[in-house]
Amino acid sequence: MTQGENSGVGRLSRREAMGLVGAAGLGVAAALNEQVANAQAPPAGPVAPWTLSSSAPSIPSWNTELKQLAPNVYAYIQAGGLGKPNMSNAALIVGPDSMMAIDTLTAPLLTKAFIAAAKRAGGGKPITHVIDTHHHGDHIAGNQFFVPCEIVSHEYCRDEVAKQAAAVAPGTKFAKREGFAEGTEERKIAVPTTAFNDKLVYNVGNVLVEWMFLGPAHTWGDIVAYLPKEKILFAGDIFFSYITPFGHNAHISKWIEVCDRINKMDVDVIVPGHGPVGNKNELAQMAEYYVFLKSEVKKRYAAGMTPGRAAAEIKMTRWQNWAVPEQLVRNVVRLYAEFSATLVPDVMDDANNNAIAEYNALKKGATAQSRTSLDLA
Ligand SMILES: [Zn+2]
Repeated sequence: MTQGENSGVGRLSRREAMGLVGAAGLGVAAALNEQVANAQAPPAGPVAPWTLSSSAPSIPSWNTELKQLAPNVYAYIQAGGLGKPNMSNAALIVGPDSMMAIDTLTAPLLTKAFIAAAKRAGGGKPITHVIDTHHHGDHIAGNQFFVPCEIVSHEYCRDEVAKQAAAVAPGTKFAKREGFAEGTEERKIAVPTTAFNDKLVYNVGNVLVEWMFLGPAHTWGDIVAYLPKEKILFAGDIFFSYITPFGHNAHISKWIEVCDRINKMDVDVIVPGHGPVGNKNELAQMAEYYVFLKSEVKKRYAAGMTPGRAAAEIKMTRWQNWAVPEQLVRNVVRLYAEFSATLVPDVMDDANNNAIAEYNALKKGATAQSRTSLDLA
């Protein structure tokens, strides 16, 4: 496995030089500005529980599998669908002598199942490189099971993982949970050993893997892997497929712009951080979720409505049936922070808790949560 450039040269100019920019974009950011300009504040009214919509598209279910996408290139998709946990995905690139894993999942038994599948696919070759697409626990908690190896991330991600590692007291165990952990495994968060800010290129055998930072999106440190020959993009949590995107660390407006940039790349297959393997159309559906939500939130923000009530009132039309719908509340909180120029990279626990308490009080049977038990996504 050889490592190529790691410099601070501007991304756009390099990508343009490589001929990656060409196709027409989504234009979703422009569409949003038009919608917001025409916005009228809706009146506050009674709110109903979240219900599935017969007029909105239904979503599929999918199984756990190591899915081959191209020679030596695999996505490790964990099972999900409506009403299911919708856990994170991982991926694998097989070289002639060693392998690269992308993300390490949430808990020991999940990670060990991924490693076993990877070893079977790669004929037992060692996994020498792990790439963390971002710092969330469901993508990095399994790092420790790959050590010794090089662990690579964006610098922001590395710093956030280092904070998480420092917060784990020696001797801490993973909580016992069926299918997740035996309860005997010591928890030792392994911090990335190599970090970059802009671009880092690997040749994994014949597979060229271009790691890139496209700007703040789901977090301030998301990186994507572009495989130009295979026209595959590993998007991490920049892409949620049929699952409500989790925006609790996000800059949602910049995330929409990053989706536009991906849409201009020469890509046929996009692997999400959560959900089944998709493509540009499905990424665009997710970006449009945020475009629509931003326009609905903007009206209510302008009318002086609280975030919890805004979240309770908004109907997500064609996204109504997506899994984990009540992540909406945390997305609304981030948009309020954007509009009030109070957005910070960290999770805003107090604002989330206030909005979720109000949302759950307004909507009978609502189950929005500030944090999930495993810090999913
Ligand atoms: Zn995430």
